[in-house]
Amino acid sequence: MTFTVAIDGPAAAGKGTISKAVAAHYGFAHLDTGLLYRAVGAKVLAGADPLVAAQTLQPSDLGNADLRTHDVAQAASQVAVNADVRAALVTFQRDFARRSGGAVLDGRDIGTVICPDAAAKLYVTASAQCRAARRHKELQDRGDDISANQVFVDVIARDKRDADSGRRPQWLQRLMRS
Ligand code: C5P
Repeated sequence: MTFTVAIDGPAAAGKGTISKAVAAHYGFAHLDTGLLYRAVGAKVLAGADPLVAAQTLQPSDLGNADLRTHDVAQAASQVAVNADVRAALVTFQRDFARRSGGAVLDGRDIGTVICPDAAAKLYVTASAQCRAARRHKELQDRGDDISANQVFVDVIARDKRDADSGRRPQWLQRLMRS
């Protein structure tokens, strides 16, 4: 049986928390698609070419413990603007969505671009202040010493980058047709 749940929304809105709960409740597999962009971002920070990093991404790359840092989040948001990087990550996500036994994917383009035919779609959002406060606590709990104001500024910058990349009709149309 395949059954796809798509959970969309902006950064730090709580998609991951909800996705994990839905996946645990129904016994579905869960993919945090932000990890794909973070894994590519981490490779770029280590000197890799963004497109090559996306094209050669392996499931084992998603287990890297350093992917949750603030620097990697910023790098992820920057590589996510690249249409070729996004296209290179589509197959990985669609294969995951079609796995037998059910799948929950969270991200900001799952219900619109990656899995437009998902059986269930949720959109999770919150104010930028609330999302920045969640992300700040998450980073502090990991021992990342960063100010609340810096996290807020970064959340706004990421929202802007994500909105800009989301407005690109060529890649959106290309991905939706594929
Ligand atoms: O959700 P997370 O903070 O891990 O995402 C990191 C970055 O990856 C986001 O800021 C966004 O730019 C990008 N991303 C994306 N599409 C997705 C998931 C994440 O562009 N489906």
